[in-house]
Amino acid sequence: MDFALTEEDEAFRDELRAWLDENLPEFNAAGEIGDENNPDRRTMLRRQAWQRRLHEGRWAAINWPKSWGGREATVSQNAIYAEEMAKAKTPGIYNTNGLWQIGPMILRWGTEDQQQHWLPGILDASEHWCQGFTEPEAGSDLGNLRTMAVRHGDVYVVTGRKIWISTAHLAKWGLFLVRTDPTSLERGAKHDGISALIVDMELPGIEVQVIRDITGGELFCEVTFDGARVPAEYLLGQENQGWQVAMGTLGHERVGTAGMSVSMRIELDNLIATTRHHNPAALEDPGLRERVARVWTQLELTRLLNARALSKILKGQPNWPEVPLAKLQWSYLSQTIAELGVDMLGPLGPLAKGGPDTVDKGHWAHNYVWQRFTSIGAGTTEVQKNIIADRAIKMPRR
Ligand SMILES: Cc1cc2nc3c(=O)[nH]c(=O)nc-3n(C[C@H](O)[C@H](O)[C@H](O)COP(=O)(O)OP(=O)(O)OC[C@H]3O[C@@H](n4cnc5c(N)ncnc54)[C@H](O)[C@@H]3O)c2cc1C
Repeated sequence: MDFALTEEDEAFRDELRAWLDENLPEFNAAGEIGDENNPDRRTMLRRQAWQRRLHEGRWAAINWPKSWGGREATVSQNAIYAEEMAKAKTPGIYNTNGLWQIGPMILRWGTEDQQQHWLPGILDASEHWCQGFTEPEAGSDLGNLRTMAVRHGDVYVVTGRKIWISTAHLAKWGLFLVRTDPTSLERGAKHDGISALIVDMELPGIEVQVIRDITGGELFCEVTFDGARVPAEYLLGQENQGWQVAMGTLGHERVGTAGMSVSMRIELDNLIATTRHHNPAALEDPGLRERVARVWTQLELTRLLNARALSKILKGQPNWPEVPLAKLQWSYLSQTIAELGVDMLGPLGPLAKGGPDTVDKGHWAHNYVWQRFTSIGAGTTEVQKNIIADRAIKMPRR
């Protein structure tokens, strides 16, 4: 494995660092954006402003074609980008779904008219997007989805229910997977009858209900379609070929764990610094010291795992089984660090935000519950283990 960067990669990294040095401190110094009392809304406004700044510097959509303001970044440049952003602790992105998943799919499958219609709003953060795949009976087994879209002239009439759809209440547009051929289920070819439909979230016949999560935040929603009439020209790709569109979308979701080991390392460093300040005795506790050392070692292992996946891709080999292993490492370590956070801070650890004695605005207590999502999102732990057992270890099926 060769860790050295090529000249182009070094130039890419240096340009990004210089741009961040010039833009990030000034952006951070400007402070909060908007004076609303709603913290979720304030966060989104800040992310919107940051994405606009990135877009102006051609750093928002690095994988998009140059003609669309992208950089056509290589796999190693994606890893560099993720690491540098994590090191610089940049704000989140307003349109993560749009930039990383849906935009590339519109570039790949969309007509010229569709690209002109939707891509500018994704790039400049003027329109927010959600991704509507999961249903109450179709999560890990996504092919089981049953939201129906029936063609009537120049519209699809959509009926059904989607759940856990992130930020649907803020989105102007959504990319939804719907069933256009109900016979495919009876034929036992469930993946064949699915289409990808772009939906205007303000259409009559769509109800969006926010679901409060265990942290008290309002991130995801239930979306109910009751005869919503979606223009047929909003179909992305061919009718009944939505599975191919979706797999491309999820493929993009699985790129970019490289920055995670850097973010988690920063989280561990922050935890040690905050413990030194608020509960220094914990740093002398042999049990806690051992847990810190174990996490540190596992983080280093994860960094090397990502490097090996990258090296394989660069050599044209399949990055297998490093990708599901890195996903497991990510969920295991995020949750382990979150638990360590609460334990290291002793009595201050569980204090939630808003109280007089909270540490780091309640971050550690919040993180303890929030990180549970990492064993569900981007493929559940059990399903990842099945994949490894089946395809990597080749364990016999029962
Ligand atoms: C924070 C968050 C944000 C999300 N945002 C979105 C979004 O924007 N859009 C969207 O479409 N969805 C979103 N989801 C939904 C997510 O994709 C699903 O939760 C995920 O696919 C799992 O599906 P499920 O919840 O139906 O669980 P299920 O698939 O019902 O799984 C339940 C349990 O059974 C286990 N299990 C399932 N199948 C097997 C098997 N074959 N073998 C062994 N064990 C199995 C699972 O591992 C899990 O523990 C989000 C979820 C979270 C937590």
